[in-house]
Amino acid sequence: MTWSIPLGRVYGTEVRVHVTFLLLLLWIAVINAGQGGLPAAGRGVLFVLLVFVCIVLHEFGHVLAARRFGVTTPDITLLPIGGVARLSRIPEQPGQELVIALAGPAVTLVIAVVLFAVTGTRPTLVTVDPGGSLVGMMARLASVNLFLLLFNLIPAFPMDGGRALRALLGYRLGFVQATQIAASVGQGFAFLLGFLGLIANPILLFIALFVYLGAAAEAHTVQLRQVAQGMIVGDSMMTRFETLPLDAGLDDAVRALIRTAQRIFPVVDGTGRLQGVLSQSALVQRAQAGGPDVVVADLMTRGIPAVHPYQPLGDALRLLQDGSLPAVAVTDAADRLVGLVTSETIGEVMLTHGVRSSRAAGAGRQPGRTRDAA
Ligand SMILES: [Zn+2]
Repeated sequence: MTWSIPLGRVYGTEVRVHVTFLLLLLWIAVINAGQGGLPAAGRGVLFVLLVFVCIVLHEFGHVLAARRFGVTTPDITLLPIGGVARLSRIPEQPGQELVIALAGPAVTLVIAVVLFAVTGTRPTLVTVDPGGSLVGMMARLASVNLFLLLFNLIPAFPMDGGRALRALLGYRLGFVQATQIAASVGQGFAFLLGFLGLIANPILLFIALFVYLGAAAEAHTVQLRQVAQGMIVGDSMMTRFETLPLDAGLDDAVRALIRTAQRIFPVVDGTGRLQGVLSQSALVQRAQAGGPDVVVADLMTRGIPAVHPYQPLGDALRLLQDGSLPAVAVTDAADRLVGLVTSETIGEVMLTHGVRSSRAAGAGRQPGRTRDAA
């Protein structure tokens, strides 16, 4: 479950809004209605929607810059704290990442300059309640954009400034090392922000958590990629597992779950061909809702891609991450299922790999796809 609602597609990129953003709108409406009645509530919501439009434009700055380098953006998600554009891969050249990272703030800068010019106000971060005045609202929007610009340029992951920092470090250091430094700066910044949040404003605590988790996720993704490099699918697949037939009932699935302690089950048809996978979480989540005649075919994830055992492990990792899939199938030359790669099997390889080669860190910048918040 992603907790975000698709709004539509622009240039092949799906724009999604996170449910917490809708809660924010509701909250703004309630607060404003309490102070100034219905008109104030309407103005409050309108203002948040205008900020939302500015953030979408910022994200499309990243999207269009990425497209110039052949990097697509499957979706943009809007959160109360800003937008997240998911790039299909991180560009290989530091210069390309630098351009993509700065394209969003460039859009925000243009919006701020235009709004300050049109309203004839001096650039400031201090906002005043504009009441019913349209010019006042535009001036306030200009200030919010100025704040967004400065916040995004903080050189810490996962802000745009952190990406720009990684790109700049990437000219001298390897990609992995550059990411580790930028992620450490991000986490240090998150602690500072969290401390300020404790003594000043609790909202900062929330932003600190977002920054901390964003930085940790980035470091983790890059670590995974580094481990996957030079390995093949066969190094990281589970080969002993039970399968479930398409028409197995919920009881059969639950019994298999308990008997094997397996977290994921391939679901096969009568000829042994893979039709989907059933994860423990899907089973537990839907078992309560399902009636007596629900079968595993109703609960499984379909469209599981297959790789061969001798393919690079990076291929399987890319499929897992891009599709947010629970598993990738491994099939032999005769198209028979021989293994499964999951984030857990890769995680286990990572643990043992870390022991063997913790000193070999700092490998070169490697191509590969991953999630990217920008
Ligand atoms: Zn951005």
